Amino acid sequence: MRITITFLLFLFLSINCAQAQVLSNKEHFTRQDTLRGSITPEREWWDLTYYHLDIKVEPDKKFISGKNTVQYKVLENHSVMQIDLQPPLKLTKAIQNGEELEVKHDGNAHFITLNQSQEIGTMNSLEVHYEGNPREAIRAPWDGGISWEKDSNDNHFIASSCQGLGASVWWPCKDHMYDEVDSMLISVNVPDKLTNVSNGRLRLVEQIGDTKTFHWVVKNPINNYGVNINIGDYVNFSEVYDGMAGNLDMNYYVLRDNLEKAKEQFKQAPKMMKAFEHWFGQYPFYRDSFKLVEVPYLGMEHQSSVTYGNGYKNGFRGGDWSGSGWGLKFDYIIIHEAGHEWFANNITYKDAADMWIHESFTTYSESLYLDYHFGKKAASEYIIGTRKAITNDKPIIGTYHVNHEGSSDMYYKGASILHTLRQLIEDDEKWRKILRGLNTEFYHQTVTTKQIEDYISEQTGIDLTEFFNQYLRTIQVPTLEYKIEGKSLKYRWINIIDKFDMPIQIKMNDKEQWLFPKTGWNTLSSDKKIETFEVDPDFYVESKKI
Ligand SMILES: [Zn+2]
Repeated sequence: MRITITFLLFLFLSINCAQAQVLSNKEHFTRQDTLRGSITPEREWWDLTYYHLDIKVEPDKKFISGKNTVQYKVLENHSVMQIDLQPPLKLTKAIQNGEELEVKHDGNAHFITLNQSQEIGTMNSLEVHYEGNPREAIRAPWDGGISWEKDSNDNHFIASSCQGLGASVWWPCKDHMYDEVDSMLISVNVPDKLTNVSNGRLRLVEQIGDTKTFHWVVKNPINNYGVNINIGDYVNFSEVYDGMAGNLDMNYYVLRDNLEKAKEQFKQAPKMMKAFEHWFGQYPFYRDSFKLVEVPYLGMEHQSSVTYGNGYKNGFRGGDWSGSGWGLKFDYIIIHEAGHEWFANNITYKDAADMWIHESFTTYSESLYLDYHFGKKAASEYIIGTRKAITNDKPIIGTYHVNHEGSSDMYYKGASILHTLRQLIEDDEKWRKILRGLNTEFYHQTVTTKQIEDYISEQTGIDLTEFFNQYLRTIQVPTLEYKIEGKSLKYRWINIIDKFDMPIQIKMNDKEQWLFPKTGWNTLSSDKKIETFEVDPDFYVESKKI
């Protein structure tokens, strides 16, 4: 099936509108942006070790109340701790050793003065209590918050989503990506007709009057926006996947009426696991299992509980971004969001400016899924097809320390950059080893783009400094300017940064060969008149005949 131009236009408009809210064009940053996006002195002195988020969700009142117990290790002498929680939620009190502490509120940030002396190397904890009507998600997952919806049987159908905006939109936490909690218990009390599904494994369900509390245990480090609650009239089915690290439990939670559709569509989940363990190495969260959880919005990469709302259709809500047809061979949300388990959840950016680490590799993972199941040509056609979504409006890397993401080009341009890199390496086994190597080298870590760039340079043996500078830090697309004069080809790079000298593959008179353009003109002579010339479309470059 080919998609129509109207549909493509719709897709374009919908992603552009959607991303506009997360990926804002902000140039001026406020004190609140700095408090949210930087490692403040009130954050730096303590290392987060454990959370117990213990909350009650009252759907009829759209109300959340409860507490988060924050356990931490003292790294430096300091007595003020920053905890984030966004209005209209209220941080009502903070308690350490039974003593209520003084809290100074500054917008989304709350500064808690600790009375007990904080000895370096010790482990302490405090309780942060809160309540209120959290911000409602108007257009989840992009604007974030809580979606309070109903299913077709009029049951509550509720979910959190908070990428970009921050987890503090619905629970109090250290809302910066650099410090992941090592493990977590998520206890959620809901009316007893409903089920809450969060991250990790279900340890216990407690019946309390006409409510139930679901206790979910996460045993691996998890980033803030990866934590989620999903509440609905869920039914469950599961399978055991024979994976690289042994048996992996794969669980699926879907609305009661969608069970049969899900059993069919989710057959792609083990196929996803097979392709990604091949390309990226073992699934990073065996102890926490893998889940797909139906939600009332499109989907999100919540760690070990990937949320799904793609309507049990292949493609992106039934459409193909690439126009190549290959996008309809898989369910975009199952493949893309699960791809984030490796790039976002296993390897996590420290600063939102480096979000390409999440989105470029994961968008690229879509083509690797195709590559594994449908071959290299499919992968290539898909990537090339998605280039029409590239805008080159601003650089992929954003502004540091203010929770600012770069251009939405981190998706499709990012994927094309990685695809170009694969061509440069010219050795698919080596490329796969690098992708797997990233996932072991930075296993369960938060990283900077420099660590990723340096690792790839070291492993390829190619100095990719200018390659990454060109593609991630400018909007210039390298352009091969060339002229053909009989048997000779004259060529050079234009629209490049200083010292950028990437070689490219070309086809001249049906003969494939490498070309090594520089800023100055070079000449390549052929033994006969040059009739045809093209740059290998796998490279994300432009060419201009003069
Ligand atoms: Zn993504």
